[in-house]
Amino acid sequence: MTLSINDLIAAQPTEVCDADLTQPIFEFDGVATYGPGASKDDVIPDPVIRRGQLPVEYQKMTPEELDGRIVAAREKLGEDVVLLGHYYQRDEIVKYADFLGDSYQLANAALTKPKASTIVFCGVHFMAETADILSSDEQAVILPNLAAGCSMADMADEESVDAAWEELLEIYGSEPDENGKQPVVPVTYMNSSAALKAFCGRNGGIVCTSSNASAVLEWAFERGQRVLFFPDQHLGRNTGKAMGIPVEQMPMWNPYKAKGGNDDETLAAAKILLWHGFCSVHKRFTVAQIDKARADYPGCKVIVHPESPMPVVDAADASGSTSGIYAFVEKQEPGTVIAIGTEINMVNRIAAEHPDKTIFCLDPVVCPCSTMYRIHPGYLAWVLDGLVEGEVRNQIVVDEDIARDAKVALERMLAAVPS
Ligand code: SF4
Repeated sequence: MTLSINDLIAAQPTEVCDADLTQPIFEFDGVATYGPGASKDDVIPDPVIRRGQLPVEYQKMTPEELDGRIVAAREKLGEDVVLLGHYYQRDEIVKYADFLGDSYQLANAALTKPKASTIVFCGVHFMAETADILSSDEQAVILPNLAAGCSMADMADEESVDAAWEELLEIYGSEPDENGKQPVVPVTYMNSSAALKAFCGRNGGIVCTSSNASAVLEWAFERGQRVLFFPDQHLGRNTGKAMGIPVEQMPMWNPYKAKGGNDDETLAAAKILLWHGFCSVHKRFTVAQIDKARADYPGCKVIVHPESPMPVVDAADASGSTSGIYAFVEKQEPGTVIAIGTEINMVNRIAAEHPDKTIFCLDPVVCPCSTMYRIHPGYLAWVLDGLVEGEVRNQIVVDEDIARDAKVALERMLAAVPS
């Protein structure tokens, strides 16, 4: 099954969140922002690469020609290359993937192919960085389009987090309390730069995913009095609330304001300081959409991703990571109607894989992750042809010191949450 954004719209007559998404991909790719659609209102930080580079020859190829190039290159390269596809990736890419999964599953999947000299990561930038950190020194990691970033990850940059940390040390001090607990433990979501994972590694902190966030927070509270959680405020708030932490004790930390925009009393009581970040795709889900799904399909089940706002998670029947959503769907009886609040490519794929159930996206507007969308078969063909010619294009290399410290934070996560 090959569905472009136009096919998605045709298959499910509805609006698209920005008309620019219906442009030919290479025009879309030239837009000097994260791209229209889900991330169009995001503030774009300066260092972000805004446009991929692809020779015109590849831009002009038909889907069939690109298909032929990709298949031929893969045949020549054999097991020397492993191709990873994220759940949110379009089907035109996923059909070539050796593994399909979330960012962490994919980084681990790559470890099962130690003989592959190259990992082609069809996801976004932070995912390719994690794969580079976890893979061997002999393996190269490629991100087919360097403009495929993640707007949420870019909402917490190293400089702002360093500045916040300095301020927090002034407010809370740097010495452990009488129980040996440090004043603040930094916790970063997997959706963050390698530099921030390294920051956590250096400062007694840890990484979490959307499926292990509560176990990671427990780990952090065994070692600290409070947590600085970045970049996703919603995952932090939803997880903290499920652990019984009152919402008032989870204030937002706005990096553009003194003391994060909080008064002394709030900071004294705080258990989790939530960074002012969010996923543009998941923040689109609303309680009104859930009410409508229930009105249209009485008895339907609703599951949303924990990057959704807290009222949405509270109103849903369940919340879960990408693998959690898969498991939830599989558990339901045939004939069940299920409304899902996550990225549209993943919802459509789950629906196609479960024809015995009626599955649809809570958001009636077609709005894919617009950064993930930048991985087009043209880029994939170009990087694979490069490998055939002996050239590694668009390699992601994490600085050695950063990789070492980031690995510390990732290994803490593995020890805290045995797989
Ligand atoms: S869906 Fe959201 S968090 Fe995931 S890659 Fe896209 S922008 Fe980033």
